[in-house]
Amino acid sequence: MLVYIENEVKNNPQVLRFIDKFKNIDVIYVDNYKNLFDKKIPNWNIEKSIIFAELKWNCLTQAPEDYGHEKFSYFLKNSLNCIFDCRYCFLKWAFQNDFQVYFVNYDDMKKEIVEALEKYILCYSELVLEWKIWNWKLQIPKKLRFYSSDYSDNLWMNWFSNFVQEFVPFFENLDEAMMEIRTKSTNIQPLLDLWFIPKNTEIAFSLNPQELIEKYEKWVASLDDRIQAVNTLLDKWFKVWLRFLPLLPVENYQQIYWDFINYVKQNVDMSKISSTFASWLLYTKADYLNILKKDPYFDIMYLLEENEDGFVREKKEIRDWFYNQFRQLDKKCMVCLDS
Ligand code: SF4
Repeated sequence: MLVYIENEVKNNPQVLRFIDKFKNIDVIYVDNYKNLFDKKIPNWNIEKSIIFAELKWNCLTQAPEDYGHEKFSYFLKNSLNCIFDCRYCFLKWAFQNDFQVYFVNYDDMKKEIVEALEKYILCYSELVLEWKIWNWKLQIPKKLRFYSSDYSDNLWMNWFSNFVQEFVPFFENLDEAMMEIRTKSTNIQPLLDLWFIPKNTEIAFSLNPQELIEKYEKWVASLDDRIQAVNTLLDKWFKVWLRFLPLLPVENYQQIYWDFINYVKQNVDMSKISSTFASWLLYTKADYLNILKKDPYFDIMYLLEENEDGFVREKKEIRDWFYNQFRQLDKKCMVCLDS
């Protein structure tokens, strides 16, 4: 395995731990990871190449209001590019090449998270105060949510990043925060190896029917393996979230998703699931045009349409059908950025 390490982080504890763990690697030290990452390099040339670097800008990006559980939330970025290869994924055109980048200045990221939380608590207490004075009918948000695995799959990448061991204990001390780790992998051992059951971290498994996984989601864990990981974590009292996304309007999608929902019902104790979330394919106009340019024969893309809010999604009648089905599985199932 070839590993590029920025000089800036060569003594970072995560990097030293990695070098100690994976002895059989070739290391090249570089001044700035962007000298590699911003170059168009063919995939065959970078197989198994990864980069350790310092994140020099914000790790948090505000999510659109009402994106999920809470009104306010952030995407947390600690790595770039994903080991998996889903045909519909926006990462296909987001970067110049497929290098996996691991940002390891965790202390800076934690500081930024704490600052965002302090700002939120301040704003929240002012809202409560105003609400008491004016008796306004305000919906007070409960926790500030941080969606990790933005631009990557944090649970799979934990082999190299140590993310679980670093960030799950950190969030345990932040009572007003909740972190979500999204995954299509089954790498749950680092969670099972923790010395506690996290109260402020939720593990969110993205699920789709097996035949669509095989067709569109290269190298991800199978549906059965993910269900097994869900059940193992539920047995240990972890908070588990099921994300049904992206729902794909393939030929015969109604039958395929009926069977899928029944399969999930039979194999997962839904009463133990913290929450569920459904989303269709959802792109900005620019991303949509980019994926069409890169993959003009991707038939599903031609079933999407631009909506008034500027996002490109499946047609309303298809979305409604999906929405009704998943509401039957879980009547509190949330939908992503849709009326
Ligand atoms: S698992 Fe997620 S981040 Fe990775 S390629 Fe698939 S959609 Fe993209």
